Amino acid sequence: MTTAILSALPEEQSGLLHALQQGQRHAHGGRVFWQGRLHGQPVVLALSGIGKVAAATTATALIERFGVARMVFTGVAGGLGADVQVGDVVVARDYLQHDMDASPLFARWELPGYGRARLACDESLTALLFVAASADVLGVTVDFDSVLRLPPQPRVHQGLLVSGDRFVATAQESEALRRSLQAAGHEVLAVEMEGAAVAQVCQDYGVPFAAMRTISDRADDSAHVDFPRFVQQVASRYADQVLGGFLRRL
Ligand code: SAH
Repeated sequence: MTTAILSALPEEQSGLLHALQQGQRHAHGGRVFWQGRLHGQPVVLALSGIGKVAAATTATALIERFGVARMVFTGVAGGLGADVQVGDVVVARDYLQHDMDASPLFARWELPGYGRARLACDESLTALLFVAASADVLGVTVDFDSVLRLPPQPRVHQGLLVSGDRFVATAQESEALRRSLQAAGHEVLAVEMEGAAVAQVCQDYGVPFAAMRTISDRADDSAHVDFPRFVQQVASRYADQVLGGFLRRL
């Protein structure tokens, strides 16, 4: 039962790659896949690429070529929920593509052919990831650099994440996104660019999927965070800790 671990950025993957045992490199479909063992579990590590199409291609290759039994995503995201702050962790309960719009043929955000806008993540994998995040993120000692202005005590949230092919980087856009989703009954925690595509591929193939994201910015124009440094110093260390806890609990 091989577990696929997807990251969006190399900085997020580096710690996992470093800890990988019996690692074997495979090049396929313009991507690199690392097969090996992590915390005693067979895994394949891969970079999703950035955006929905790249992520869907990687997810499909992981299923078709490597026969993975489950998939977990770790990465960073922009916080949209009022109390979702930089340094917090969000665990996805379900996903929606915020740039899907086939209206008036289909309701706004509805995935044509699926009869709904939101795709649920696997319940038991998600519960396991949430337990690992809650237990292990709090154990990470990060140099809470004043530039990053991290909260003294990061929080772990669980709920709706949205993905789209846009880096959301103005307060106006993030507020419009949050409000329009809220008006349709979708209370959103965070925005990123890949998760919903991976959720859709996993749904099609019946492969259990779960995702966690560390909040790197508030998706607004005051996003003063040094992005690569944040990813390396905070997000990758959270990912290492949480994935370790997750794999040990499988
Ligand atoms: N600096 C990177 C590009 C990062 S793109 C490079 O040069 O390659 C942003 C990544 O972080 C995506 O993988 C996306 O999923 C996530 N992300 C973080 N904040 C986001 C935001 N405000 N809007 C959309 N995606 C965001």
